[in-house]
Amino acid sequence: MISNMRLLYCIEGMVQGVGFRPFVYALALRHALSGFVLNNEKGVNIEVEGSKESLESFELALFRELPPLARIDFFSKEALTCKNDKHFEIHHSEEGKNKSSLVLPDMSLCDDCLKELHDPHNRRYHYFFINCTNCGPRYSIIKTVPYDRPNTSMAPFVMCDACQSEYTNPLDRRYHAQPISCSTCGPTLFLRSISGKVIATDEQALQHLAALIRSGNIVAMKGMGGFHLVCDASNAAVVERLRERKKRPSKPFAVMFKNLDAIEEVCELTHHEKEGICSLLRPIVLVKQNKKSRLIAPNVAPKLDRLGVFLPYTPLHVILFEYLKKPIVATSANLSGEPIIYEAKTLVNKLSHVVDYYLDYNRDIVNSSDDSVLQYVENKRIVMRSSRGMAPQSFRLKSTDDRNILCVGAHQKNAIAIYLNHQMIISPYIGDLDTIASCELFEAMLERFKEFYDFEPELIVADMHPYYFSTQWAKKQTIPCVFVQHHYAHILSVMCEYALDETVLGIAWDGTGYGDDGTIWGGEFLLCNTDTYERVAYFEPFLLLGGDASIKDTKRILASLLWDVLGTDADAVLCNYFDESSLKRLKQVYTKKINSPLCSSVGRLFDAVAVLCGMHERISYDGESGLLLESLYDERIQEHYTVHFEDKKILYKPMFLQMLEDKEPSLIASKFLNTLVYIFFEVSSKYSQKKVIAGGVFQNRTLLEQLMNKSNETLYFPHQVAINDGGVCAGQLYKVLQKSTH
Ligand code: ZN
Ligand code: ZN
Ligand code: FE
Repeated sequence: MISNMRLLYCIEGMVQGVGFRPFVYALALRHALSGFVLNNEKGVNIEVEGSKESLESFELALFRELPPLARIDFFSKEALTCKNDKHFEIHHSEEGKNKSSLVLPDMSLCDDCLKELHDPHNRRYHYFFINCTNCGPRYSIIKTVPYDRPNTSMAPFVMCDACQSEYTNPLDRRYHAQPISCSTCGPTLFLRSISGKVIATDEQALQHLAALIRSGNIVAMKGMGGFHLVCDASNAAVVERLRERKKRPSKPFAVMFKNLDAIEEVCELTHHEKEGICSLLRPIVLVKQNKKSRLIAPNVAPKLDRLGVFLPYTPLHVILFEYLKKPIVATSANLSGEPIIYEAKTLVNKLSHVVDYYLDYNRDIVNSSDDSVLQYVENKRIVMRSSRGMAPQSFRLKSTDDRNILCVGAHQKNAIAIYLNHQMIISPYIGDLDTIASCELFEAMLERFKEFYDFEPELIVADMHPYYFSTQWAKKQTIPCVFVQHHYAHILSVMCEYALDETVLGIAWDGTGYGDDGTIWGGEFLLCNTDTYERVAYFEPFLLLGGDASIKDTKRILASLLWDVLGTDADAVLCNYFDESSLKRLKQVYTKKINSPLCSSVGRLFDAVAVLCGMHERISYDGESGLLLESLYDERIQEHYTVHFEDKKILYKPMFLQMLEDKEPSLIASKFLNTLVYIFFEVSSKYSQKKVIAGGVFQNRTLLEQLMNKSNETLYFPHQVAINDGGVCAGQLYKVLQKSTH
C-alpha cells in the first residue's frame, strides 16, 4: 500500500489576481492530489496531499508552467500530517494583519481577449472593457489588498449571471478576474463636450471620437491610468494648436499607432524594440524615425530623429483604431509640470482651454499613472519612466532586515520606495516636485501605499539636498531619518538591482545633485561600497550663474565657462548671445559670485555645448540639449578635444576654446560626445573594480552606445530601475539595508 504525504507551500511574489489559484487547482486535479489553495495577506498557501511521486511532479509543474503574469519570489515548504480530504478546493481569502501581498501593475489587452474582441460570435464582441485574469487593470482600480472586487472601483458594478458563472468557475480564463464585466453589466462610455453635454455613448462615442480626431479636433480620452490628450499626428496645424494651448513649444509628443506594421512605415525597429513595443507593458519606446515619412507631422518631435511610439493598450484604444487610419498624438493630459489628470472634473477645470471634447467612462481611476518610457541601447533596456504596466515594481531583496523603511527619492522624476517583508516596492513615476499638484501626488502616493499594506515606516531615507521637497518632508516627520548623497544613491540603485555588495567604481553623471561639500555635483567618479564612498575624480567645477536660472537660460553656463578660460576676452563672443546690459549684469553675478554655486555637472555641460550648436532659446524641457547633440552626432568623426587630468580634477574647460574654432555644430557635438567617452575610459581604466553607471546623462543613447561598444569589460547600468532620478529611491534603500545586515 502506498503511503500518502501532505505538504504546505507558502508562496510570495506576483501570485494574486493573476490566475494562480485556478492554475494550482488544475495542477492538483491533474496530479490527483487533494487539499486546498488560498490567498492570504502575504501571498498564496497551498496544502496538497497524495503520493510522493505525484507531489514531486506537481512541484515541478508548479514552477514550470506559471500563468503569464505570475512570478514566484519566495517559497517555503513543510510536511504536515495527512488529513485525508476528499477533494482539492479553492478556499476563501484569509484576511491577515501583515499585508504584504503585491499590488500588480495594470496590464494591456492579452491576445485571447483581443481575439474575442474581434469575434462577432463572442458575447464580448467590441466590448471596450474586455479583460481576463491574464490582462486588464489592477493598480489603477485597487484601494487595498487583497485584490478582491469589493476592494476595487469595480465594486459598484453587479455582475450579470453570465459574468458571475465565468467568475466562479475555476476552469474559466476569467475565474476571479476582478474587473470582469460585459456590455450588460459593465461601465458605460460617454463622449461629452467640454461643457458636459453627452454627445454619444458606448460604441457610438468611439465612432464619434474618431470622427472628431479626423476632422482636426483636440480631444481627451480616459485610458487606464488617466486622460490622454489626443489629436491627428499627421496634421501639423492641430499639433501646433496643441503646442500653443498646452504651452509646450518643443518637447516631443508620443505617438500611438494602430499596429506594429503602422509603426514600421515610419520608424526603423530592431528586434528588441519590437518585442518591447508589443509586450504586455505596452510602454512608449523611443525609436529611430525614418525621415522620409509624411505620416507624422514634423512638429510632433521637432528637430529630432527619435520618436516615442506605442500601441493601443486597452480594448478602448483598439476599437478607436477600427475607425481611425492614421496615428495619433497621445500625451498625458496635465498642466505643464503637473501630474496626469484622471478625473473628468479636474480635466474640465484645468484643460477646458485645450480640449473641446472628452471621452469618459463611469469607472473610477483610483490610482493614476502615466505611460512608461523605455529605450533600447545595443539591445539593452533602459528605463526612463516606470509607470503604467511596470509600476508598482517589486523586488525581493536578500536581506535579514525586518524594519519597515520608506525612501522618498530625489526631486525631479520623483518616485518613492517602500521596504517591507524583504520586498522593495517602487511607486510609479510621480514627477518633478516643483508644483503644488506634484507635491500633493507625492503625499497621496505615500498614503495609498500605506493603505495597501497597513505600512508605517520605522525609518525614512531622503536625499541630502536641503531644499528638495522630499527632504524637507522627511525632516518634518517624527521618525528617524537618514540622508544619502544623490550620486552615491544613483550608483547604489544599480548595485541594488544587481545585488552587488563589493567595492565598485561608480560613474554618476547627471543634471544636478547636492554634494557633500555643499556644491552641486553631477560629473562624479565614486569608488564606493554600501558603507561608504570616495570621490576619486570629478569635472572641474564652474559657477552656475544665478543657480536655477542657468538651468533654463543655458547661455549663462556658456558665459561662465568662457569667462573661466578667456577672461574678459570672452565678451566678444558672448555679445552674440546677450544684449549689452544683460551681459553686464551677468558679469557682475560672475565676478561677485552672487547666488552662483560651484557645479561639476556633466548635464550642464551638454547645455553649454548645445548653445554653441545653435540652441539659443530657453530650454523648454529636461534633456533637450542631449537630444539635440545626439541628432547632430556624426559617427565618421572620431576626434575628441584635449583634456587634462590634475589630481582628482578633470580639466576640460579649454575644450570650449577649441569649440569656438570648430564652429560647425555637428563637428562640435561629435567631438564633445567623443571627449566624454575618452574621459570615461581614461579615468575608469585606472580601477580594477566593476564599473557601475547611472544618472540622467546616460539616457543619451549615443553616449551609452559608444561606451558599450568601446568597453572591454561589462558595464553595469540599470535595466529594471530608472537610470535617471526615478531610480534614486532604490539606492537610498540599499544604503540603509546593507548596514543593518552587517
Ligand atoms: Zn485577457
Ligand atoms: Zn456581465
Ligand atoms: Fe540625479
